[in-house]
Amino acid sequence: MKKVIVIGAGAAGLMAAIHAARGGAEVTVLERNEKAGKKIYLTGKGRCNVTNNCDRDAFLMEVARNARFLFSALSFFSPADMMRLLEENGCPVVTQRGRRVFPESEKASDVTKTLLSICEKLGVRICLHRRVSGIAAGEDGTLQGVYAVREDPDRADVSPPAGGELIPAEAVIIATGGVSYPSTGSTGDGYRFAEAAGHRVEPAIPSLVGLEAKESWPAELQGLSLKNVSVTLKKGKKTLYTEQGEMLFTHFGYSGPLILEASCHLPEATEGCELTLDLKPGLTAEQLDARLRRDLEAGSKKQVRNILPALMPASLAEVFPRLCGLPGTQPCNQVTGAQRQRLRETVKNLPLPFRGRRGFQEAIVTRGGVSVREVNPGTMESKKVPGLFFAGEVLDVDAHTGGYNLQIAFSTGALAGASAAKERP
Ligand SMILES: Cc1cc2nc3c(=O)[nH]c(=O)nc-3n(C[C@H](O)[C@H](O)[C@H](O)COP(=O)(O)OP(=O)(O)OC[C@H]3O[C@@H](n4cnc5c(N)ncnc54)[C@H](O)[C@@H]3O)c2cc1C
Repeated sequence: MKKVIVIGAGAAGLMAAIHAARGGAEVTVLERNEKAGKKIYLTGKGRCNVTNNCDRDAFLMEVARNARFLFSALSFFSPADMMRLLEENGCPVVTQRGRRVFPESEKASDVTKTLLSICEKLGVRICLHRRVSGIAAGEDGTLQGVYAVREDPDRADVSPPAGGELIPAEAVIIATGGVSYPSTGSTGDGYRFAEAAGHRVEPAIPSLVGLEAKESWPAELQGLSLKNVSVTLKKGKKTLYTEQGEMLFTHFGYSGPLILEASCHLPEATEGCELTLDLKPGLTAEQLDARLRRDLEAGSKKQVRNILPALMPASLAEVFPRLCGLPGTQPCNQVTGAQRQRLRETVKNLPLPFRGRRGFQEAIVTRGGVSVREVNPGTMESKKVPGLFFAGEVLDVDAHTGGYNLQIAFSTGALAGASAAKERP
């Protein structure tokens, strides 16, 4: 029986183990944490948006980087296959808005439990508190297995210690994740293993992450969530992203679905990028102007700041005159045409100045990772070291929100597992 080692019991690693075992291999999963699937528990705010109920072409449109690399993996194990696997193993799923798929129970733990129960039925061995410290290769560079040490959860270092026990294997699957949410165990070990094996690793950048405000006023609005607004990200004249939905002001600046998505479209260097907010995307400039005229006339004896809550949440109305360069106490009947124009333009095009992304601690996903150029897309095998495979977020692929990132982990994991189990001709 071919011996396969999977490094990491996350979404990609568990799926790789299932497919390698189905392919007839003797499979051992080495996981540094005290439990498997630690990140899965956090997904979808504990509900786990497990995949997206769409076809391959629609899926690939949502992949931010290296979409074409995923063609074979998605054909091998599609979102429909994932939904079927869960349903057939006692975890019914539901499709919600935006084709997002969740377990019917809305419990992420049910997804992990289901994957673990399939592993158990297939005889997969999962060893917890075992941290791989390196890939073992013979003098001629052939793969021999991995070195692993016992992980003391209280003393987990960022880098794995050197040395350890040699665990022999004929195939090794690196499914160690990226570097986002490092508290879940993904601290970039896979990048170090890949580099040591001669692979190029593209620089890691936090993605699907909040943006830090350059000014202090957004922090004054901390906790304010805006629905049905539109956010636009531009670099020079080029629109990188524009979408309608929900955003959130936080102690550091901006977050919420629209901002996380916008972060996915940011180039590595963010200088020269501009983010703007349209508070009334449903109104044209003319309609908004007519509305402002009416409101100013109706409240002619009031101060400007007192008529604004009809247009926007009260806390935003407090700071809004300042953002338009207007005194909030100005009586409405003294607002000039130019000032009304400024109000109108700011409602439609409020600049959200930002200095950059938040860090990996808060990033939903890592952009960058093991270069896909040196990995065979039809098998997930290294083009440099036969018998070495990659799966999941450790690879330089990432996607938008909507269940796509987990499905990437499942699809690449499934393909890596099945390929690793195959005997060499
Ligand atoms: C808060 C949050 C919410 C999210 N929500 C969603 C969502 O709803 N839908 C969606 O599609 N995506 C979501 N994502 C993204 C998605 O969770 C990840 O893209 C996906 O889990 C990556 O899976 P992975 O198996 O590649 O990596 P990981 O889940 O990071 O798993 C890697 C595993 O490898 C282990 N490991 C690392 N190094 C070693 C080593 N040296 N030895 C042994 N073990 C090691 C780690 O402990 C870890 O268990 C979310 C992410 C976060 C952080």
